[in-house]
Amino acid sequence: MQTYDLVLKGGHVIDPSQSLDGQYDVAIQNGKIAAIAPQLPPHIARATQNVTGQLVCPGFIDLHVHVYEWVTDFGLWPDDVGVNAGVTTVVDQGSCGPLTFLGFQANMVDRAQTDVRCFPSVNLAGALKGGMGTPALHSPDMVELDALRQLAREHPETVRGFKVHGESGALSRWGTQVIELARQAADAAQLPLYVHTGELFAVVEENRPSPEQVIDYVLPHLKPGDLLAHCYSCRPDGLMGDRDTPSPALVDAINAGVRLDLGHGINFSFAIARRMMAQGLMPYTISSDVHGDFAKPHNDATLDYSLCGALSKLVALGMELKEAIAAVTLHPATVLQAEAELGTLKAGTRADITVLEKTAAPWLCRDAQGEQIVAPQRFTPAWVLKSGQLIQPHRRLLRDLAMSG
Ligand SMILES: [Zn+2]
Repeated sequence: MQTYDLVLKGGHVIDPSQSLDGQYDVAIQNGKIAAIAPQLPPHIARATQNVTGQLVCPGFIDLHVHVYEWVTDFGLWPDDVGVNAGVTTVVDQGSCGPLTFLGFQANMVDRAQTDVRCFPSVNLAGALKGGMGTPALHSPDMVELDALRQLAREHPETVRGFKVHGESGALSRWGTQVIELARQAADAAQLPLYVHTGELFAVVEENRPSPEQVIDYVLPHLKPGDLLAHCYSCRPDGLMGDRDTPSPALVDAINAGVRLDLGHGINFSFAIARRMMAQGLMPYTISSDVHGDFAKPHNDATLDYSLCGALSKLVALGMELKEAIAAVTLHPATVLQAEAELGTLKAGTRADITVLEKTAAPWLCRDAQGEQIVAPQRFTPAWVLKSGQLIQPHRRLLRDLAMSG
């Protein structure tokens, strides 16, 4: 008779990679998914976890976090926003660069229980200071294409793309020079670009680009598979800004395969989300952009958003739950070119699983502008399996989901 280390019993499985949406038992053996079936054949289970009434999903992937704690002044510990927040894989966006990568690998990737990957900054040092303080770090002089090529070649497991900024402050200083260098680096490494949108650097006012033109400067340098971050940002130079309808160039780029990422962060706007969703512009991936306080170094006390919170908000705004789950599982796994291993519950893959509790009670949630809505439900992580190990998340940084209406 088949023996399993653990069986998750009675849960509602949503796995977009296999079009599963229904009741299945999931069996785990040696850190991998051994079987998934409505009724497992007779077996011996060393442990059984009853997950009746809960949602069983492939382990969540957060495509935008900041987890280079102590080296950057706004970095968090990966497991606080990873396994302890219902997330089995996190992707750091831009904290390290070629000169600081090995510290990231040794102190974060190799020590965290969470699977940590990254899109290094195209500049040599990375984003050392929150809110893009010290713009000189991000100048074209700080980009060395050979160093980026070597980084991608030597660390293919961790390095999955490059991070660059497409916003007014950078444009007012260097035009599109840094973006052009990023394009070359991404092409050489055959990796996607992740492009920040919405004003971030201090702007050189005499060179301030018209807000509505900013995205049109950026788009010619993007290719299918690249990502535009902060798609529902409130910033006037963001993807939507004050427009009623999106730029035709943006619609063309999305139709050609450029992808939108939520990157909730400190600029997420319900109003912009509603306007863009009404035009059919949905995020391909949902990510959190969790980070420490920009004004108080090494302080996470004010963090009030999360990946599961962002997912719950988008469902409240009308995104289908199955689509939202795809946006934190199958889709980010595709961005990482790791869909054979991550973002799926297929038998034989690593047993990374997120189990959600659906709380059907009024939930008062806020965007980053302080607009409040009351959602009829929210989704909180109850359990995480990381490489088959069952973890009860401590949820210390899920303050958003702790609020009730
Ligand atoms: Zn960020």
